[in-house]
This record gives sequence, structure tokens and C-alpha cells, in this order.
Amino acid sequence: MILAVASGKGGTGKTSVVAALAAVWPAGAVLADVDVEAPNLHLFVHPVPESSEEVGVETPVVRAERCTACGACADLCQFGAIALLGGRAQVFSEMCHSCGGCFRVCPADALARGSRVVGEITTGRAGRHTVVTGRLRLGEAMAPPLMREVLARAIALAAGRDLLVDAPPGVSCPAMTAVEQADAILLVTEPTPFGLHDFQLAHQAFAPLGKPMAVVINRDGLGDAPVGAYCRTHHLPVLARIPYSSELAGIYARGGSLAEDPVVRAAMEAAAGALRA
Ligand code: SF4
Ligand code: SF4
Repeated sequence: MILAVASGKGGTGKTSVVAALAAVWPAGAVLADVDVEAPNLHLFVHPVPESSEEVGVETPVVRAERCTACGACADLCQFGAIALLGGRAQVFSEMCHSCGGCFRVCPADALARGSRVVGEITTGRAGRHTVVTGRLRLGEAMAPPLMREVLARAIALAAGRDLLVDAPPGVSCPAMTAVEQADAILLVTEPTPFGLHDFQLAHQAFAPLGKPMAVVINRDGLGDAPVGAYCRTHHLPVLARIPYSSELAGIYARGGSLAEDPVVRAAMEAAAGALRA
């Protein structure tokens, strides 16, 4: 099973829930952190790194001696990543989205295939779990290619084991990329006005995918926004409620697992059982 743990907004405790689920998961699993712009699952599960490698995307490189300055590539590129300057085409690699279109329209075979490093993937062990972490290069805007590569590695490593995906928050392209291969989506929210608003957005964004969805309400008691009522109305099962308490905040602050708390542990065990059923 591939389970994507997602949230409509950052700061709901999504990564803490992934770590707590991992702590009680009944078998060894693969944990994939695809929140590549701000990966922090490692802070809670403390993997021992085993390997790391860079990930690149394909970008064009102009063969100046062949370029006839016809402008076909610049006319085609929707991202302004190629322009005619100084009598030939010039590539602005950071703006390239690797669509490959310019290669196809160049009539002079003047574009070679180069690459740009967008980030790195680290693989490690955390007890019985394998942890795969993607980290986007600073200043890099293209998260989805790295996320897809992290997911591909994680799926290959899982080889029959369950895969828990720590998705990026929000409902934009990276969040959709993170859940598109999942068998089920676990939404983490909190009972505050912001939490409810962004939870609704996430539910509405993911619902058309037709995947089973369930909910964990974190910091239960922090506010009185009617998250539970929304879940009942939309037939979303609430698998666990994690109370709002200073003790849990203390565990979070030192990078511990919320499953250290016996109440949360029992809730997470029940949630894991429901998710695997
Ligand atoms: S690969 Fe696509 S995005 Fe990149 S320069 Fe060529 S046309 Fe533009
Ligand atoms: S399409 Fe090819 S020949 Fe034409 S400007 Fe671009 S790189 Fe040069």
C-alpha cells in the first residue's frame, strides 16, 4: 500500500503524524519524504544515511557552430528559457522546464542534451524502516521532477512493503504530484479556522482523484472550528485525534515521536490498523 499523508496547510503536524505512524507500523516500511522544499521527516525518525546522489533534469545546450539563429526554439519555449542573443540561441537553464520541445523544432540539430542538478536523494535506515529523502537545491523552482524520482526510488525499494509518503502541504502541483500514485490519502488537520479552511481546500482538491481518504485531527482542543462536523458531512473517517497538550509540544520540540505518549500511541495503532485493513 502507498499511503500519502497530506495537509492543506503547513504546520498542522503532518510530518509528526508520519513519524508516529511509522513508530507503530506493524511491519518494516519505506518512508518517503517528498516535501522536497523543506524535508524534515529525518528530524523525527533519525535515519542513518547509507547513500546519496544528485538528481538532474534534461536541459538544452546550444552548439553555437550549428545554430542558424532561426528563432524556432525561442518562439516555441513558453518559459522564456531560450532567447536569441548575439546572433545565436542562448539557454537560461534555471528557467527550463525540460519539456523537450526545443529539441524537436530545431532544424539544424543545434541543441545538445545537457542537464541541470535540481536536488539530491538520500537513502538511509531508521530501525526496521527504509527512509528516502528528497532535498531540492536552494533556489531551484522545479520540485515535481525530484519528487517523482524520490517516489520512483521509494516504490522500487518498498518491493511489497508499505510506503508512507510525507507529502508537501497545500494543493498546488507538488502536493498533487505527491498523492497521484497513492492508494489512499490521510489528511492531517487541526480544529482552527485556518486549519479547517485549508483542510476543506485539500479535500476538494484530492476528492476528484477518487482515492480513499481519512483524517487525523491534530492539536484537538486547540480551537473549536467544526472539523469533525465537516468530516461527518463528507463521510470522511476520523482515524485519530491527537490532543493539544504541552507534553506533546515538548516531545515535538526535542524531535521525539508523538507515539512516546501512550494515548497517542494507542490512537496511532488504531489508525494504522484501520489503514492496513
Ligand atoms: S526544454 Fe522546453 S522549457 Fe526547456 S528550453 Fe527547451 S522548450 Fe524551453
Ligand atoms: S532552433 Fe536551433 S538553429 Fe534555430 S535558433 Fe534555436 S538552436 Fe539555433
